[in-house]
Amino acid sequence: MWLKIVFSLKNNYICPLKDILNKFLTIMNEKEIKSSTKCVRSGWKPKSGEPCQLPIYQSTTFKYETSREMQDLFDLKANGYFYTRLQNPTNDFTAKKICALEGGTAAMLTSSGQAANFFAVFNICEAGDHFIACSSIYGGTYNLFGVTMKKMGIEVTFIPIDATEEQVQAAIKPNTKLIFGETLTNPTIEIFDIEKFAKIAHKNGIPLIVDNTFPTPINCRPFEWGADIVTHSTTKYMDGHNTLVGGCIVDSGKFDWEAHAEKFPGLTEPDPSYHGLAYSKAFGNEGAFITKCTAQLMRDFGCIQSPQNAFLLNLGLESLAVRMRQHNENGLKVAQYLEQHPKVAWIHYPRLKSYTHPELAEKYLPSGCSGVMALGIKGGTEKSIKFMDSLKLVDIVTHVAYSQSCILHPASHTHRQLSDEQLRAAGINPELIRLSVGIEDADDIIADLEQALDQI
Ligand code: PLP
Repeated sequence: MWLKIVFSLKNNYICPLKDILNKFLTIMNEKEIKSSTKCVRSGWKPKSGEPCQLPIYQSTTFKYETSREMQDLFDLKANGYFYTRLQNPTNDFTAKKICALEGGTAAMLTSSGQAANFFAVFNICEAGDHFIACSSIYGGTYNLFGVTMKKMGIEVTFIPIDATEEQVQAAIKPNTKLIFGETLTNPTIEIFDIEKFAKIAHKNGIPLIVDNTFPTPINCRPFEWGADIVTHSTTKYMDGHNTLVGGCIVDSGKFDWEAHAEKFPGLTEPDPSYHGLAYSKAFGNEGAFITKCTAQLMRDFGCIQSPQNAFLLNLGLESLAVRMRQHNENGLKVAQYLEQHPKVAWIHYPRLKSYTHPELAEKYLPSGCSGVMALGIKGGTEKSIKFMDSLKLVDIVTHVAYSQSCILHPASHTHRQLSDEQLRAAGINPELIRLSVGIEDADDIIADLEQALDQI
């Protein structure tokens, strides 16, 4: 069956390709629409008599009226979805909305943010390849790159977020295939200088992948600064309501795979598992990356988002612009309160005047930098934990970036698999607390923080 799908992709017959091409057209027509409108209107566009809300295609497979129709599908004479392990219409309409928000040419949903980052890198790198990642990234991604992908024969070099061009250049080897960073780093809340890293990547004929989870396209659109591929943990602000785990990959369509064909054989040379299909030749710069990722990695790994989750994600996206405005506003108010508190040793929140790189905040996050911040309590880890345990409204959870305010101590929670040395390399000191300011009333959040600080 897969061979038939492959072959049909090559011949532009079935839905995956057709749908990606539809994405191009819709998105090109939407260039002038504002982000708030895209949040509500992009993606699913009902025709006369169709439901206003995106339908959930909660089905593993797709029925055809007659044996002949099915036969035509297998004979590559008709279009249609086959099997939800590869693609599902609910997912595709939701991906289309995120694609429009980021200003890309094609996108796909994955089962998690981890899967999105894995797929984005593994769609380019093969065993024997090397890539560069900023060391200040989410602990799970750090582990995926540094430990798990190493077992697959893919080597990573972590570089500091403030690495100079010379330092980055020195880390690039003949087999280096990409650079990876997070726009707003988790959990240190530093800004990754996208334009700087994009220029270095492009000078070396390799793409820049940016995880844009925390800013969301409401606060920053990495493609405007030269990033080639954007990933998301849609589990965070995009869902926004603590309901689903999911991810998304968006392609800018700008990276010229053919111009550096020798570096990217997986994208430019015939794929033996697909009857010799060469993605860059069949789908161009706009479609090669996502088509390969869907048709090859999703086929083989099956990390698809469930249609139910894609529906919930689409619903979350409808209010993303409104919610991000409130997260930005509340985040700044809370950060300003904490900054002046005598028991707070330090705070990282890029929109504060004290932020070490205000020029980066102004450039990349002009409308705000979300509700996430990192801080240290005077007295170190013991006091930090006492402070967290004293909170009543703000929840201690392994989560971040959604409607409810929450808090976490990375060294003992999300990053506990990292050694002290790795923690330091990621810029995380043991007392660091990550606070995620929700959309409750800012005064109530501040009152809770105040009563907890009073107790230490
Ligand atoms: N990227 C970033 C920036 C994250 O913060 C996370 C998780 O916290 C991930 C990726 C992984 O996402 P998920 O938990 O959806 O797999």
